[in-house]
Amino acid sequence: MQVALVSVGDELLTGDTVNTNAAWLGERLADRGASVERVVVVPDRVGDIARVVNELRAEYDAVVVTGGLGPTHDDLTMEGVAAAVGVPVEEHDEAVAWVTDHTDYERGDLVEGTTHLPKGSRMLPNEEGVAPGCAIEGVYVLPGVPEEMQAMFETVADEFSGEYRHVRTVEADEPESALVERLADLRDRFDVTVGSYPGDHVRLKLQSTDEAELERAAAWLRERVEPTEN
Ligand code: ATP
Ligand code: MG
Repeated sequence: MQVALVSVGDELLTGDTVNTNAAWLGERLADRGASVERVVVVPDRVGDIARVVNELRAEYDAVVVTGGLGPTHDDLTMEGVAAAVGVPVEEHDEAVAWVTDHTDYERGDLVEGTTHLPKGSRMLPNEEGVAPGCAIEGVYVLPGVPEEMQAMFETVADEFSGEYRHVRTVEADEPESALVERLADLRDRFDVTVGSYPGDHVRLKLQSTDEAELERAAAWLRERVEPTEN
């Protein structure tokens, strides 16, 4: 299953907030065998949110949008997603029932908008906060606050699946450029993908859905690179 992530928020574009939500979702989705193919960061603007969500939902099996759910003036995600799907935003009965039953808010106290969701969407309760999320036509809308986002994601995690890709890491104490031919040879011989990440050492990340093939590839490579000290 191929998934795109949309992170909403001006603060992510200015660097005031680091986009840890996308990193966390990328890891959780990979655990489930779903692959993240795009991460797009957009500002708090309805038109931008709508355009990007619309493009991505045409191309990928699912789109996970985070941020901009609350009742403040800059929380425009529900409007953007509704526009992308072509439905209005309206007060959602289930959302009103959930919020009045599970939080200290009474209906009249709620800032208008908190319980407004795209028409026809499935409400996703916010166990760690107030503003609910929703799911509609393969688009999942989750909160921006990391704890709230993570708890809500877990309630829909089963809806994301795919064939798990096993991982083996090989470290090489050589310059990346020196490894080019051996990595080409590795890819010819084995059905694995290879990522190369330079740092203190070069970290080579091998992946495959076939664990035995992956073991053979990792063993082949380990015999042919300069090992690191530890
Ligand atoms: P609230 O209901 O509290 O307004 P929200 O769902 O509207 O929550 P945002 O207003 O977008 O979420 O963000 C709330 C806070 O969550 C931000 O101040 C920021 O610290 C954090 N946050 C938002 N997006 C991300 C992200 N992609 N990665 C990490 N933290 C984030
Ligand atoms: Mg907010």
